Amino acid sequence: MIEKGRLVYKCRRCGKLNKNTQVPDGLYALNSILNKIPLPEEWGGFILTETDICSCDDGNLGVSDLIGFEKD
Ligand SMILES: [Zn+2]
Repeated sequence: MIEKGRLVYKCRRCGKLNKNTQVPDGLYALNSILNKIPLPEEWGGFILTETDICSCDDGNLGVSDLIGFEKD
């Protein structure tokens, strides 16, 4: 089943969740990231990674990890 939604990243430093990354197919997106499979060209050529940068609420920067996917 194809379900669109957002990837969820969690900051290692402050614990904040980041859900800014929209994907058209959650299972495909997670599988691609974890197994380093290229995304379909029709997704627009953007790159998904297992980690991201968090702008922590105290003004510092953290590193966030991909923890999952949430349906819209
Ligand atoms: Zn943070």
